[in-house]
Amino acid sequence: MRTLRLCALIALGMALGYAFSEAADAPKETPKAKCCAQAEKDGKKCDHSCCEAAAKDGKKCEQCPKG
Ligand SMILES: [Zn+2]
Ligand SMILES: [Zn+2]
Repeated sequence: MRTLRLCALIALGMALGYAFSEAADAPKETPKAKCCAQAEKDGKKCDHSCCEAAAKDGKKCEQCPKG
């Protein structure tokens, strides 16, 4: 019963591969607001009060347009 064993191995491999790709896709980071990304590029911090407030909470600004 060699073929059956091979099929089982392939199925297991596919299941594992699927699980890994799921895990890799899960933690998607929300993109930074354009103004913040630009400020960071210039080595500064965004001075928008909305962005500062969001950063204080460890979040990204939801009000400014995303880059
Ligand atoms: Zn900003
Ligand atoms: Zn903002």
